Amino acid sequence: MAKTVNILSDAEIALVRESSLLVGRTLAEVAGKIAPGVTTAQLDRLAETFIRDNGGLPGFKGLYGCPSTLLISVNQEVVHGLPGDRELRDGDVASVDCGVLMNGFYGDSAYTFCVGDVAPEVRQLLTVTQECLARGIANAIANNRVGDIGHAIQEHAEAHGYGVVRELVGHGVGRKLHEPPEVPNYGRRGHGVLLRDGLVIAIEPMINMGTKDVRQLEDGWTIATRDGRPSAHFEHTIAVRTGKAEVLSTFSYIEDVLRSKGELVS
Ligand code: MG
Ligand code: MG
Repeated sequence: MAKTVNILSDAEIALVRESSLLVGRTLAEVAGKIAPGVTTAQLDRLAETFIRDNGGLPGFKGLYGCPSTLLISVNQEVVHGLPGDRELRDGDVASVDCGVLMNGFYGDSAYTFCVGDVAPEVRQLLTVTQECLARGIANAIANNRVGDIGHAIQEHAEAHGYGVVRELVGHGVGRKLHEPPEVPNYGRRGHGVLLRDGLVIAIEPMINMGTKDVRQLEDGWTIATRDGRPSAHFEHTIAVRTGKAEVLSTFSYIEDVLRSKGELVS
């Protein structure tokens, strides 16, 4: 049986929003810096400094033994890649996942960036994964169920021939980074936990260009596609409020930076 979900007050949701917006601003700092030749450790240091300078704490660092502020997953890596001295290269895609803890509440968001000139079929994977996130959010409304979110994501991804990762899922967000309910990116309409006002969840499709199968790398952290083909990951923290989904995190700061770099095509 699923554990009881937490219902947050308006004041608590406002605090999740503050943490989530700091995540968005942090990812915008990453957007400004990300380029061929930059190491993932450089991005991680930038993010940690920015979060602390703005009154937050890195949400992932120290949680489950996580050593870093960001989790950066490149190309065939799906999620949970650890920053290090690896240099990003022209043509890479890098999913950057970030959490912030501030005023006792977490925010969680992720964005997959293009590094330099990325192949059109990989850009298409990123576009469709963002569309999956939007469709998931559109279904995060009162009286729907968690399965409606997953179904919408799965249907869109599979219509493009992509694989939906099963092993990793979205989650409730609040005083803990990961709370019930689990929010899978697959599912059946009308099944699972009932959505109602005050529920705060992270929706985070992880979509593979090839098959859905993943494996864990030898570092004990990184999850990668089994077939070695690229994967994409976008995440928002949202609240169900007055019946609708209210997005608490934002990509708008990221998109402003990418637009100014001439890197936002849509
Ligand atoms: Mg995340
Ligand atoms: Mg998450």
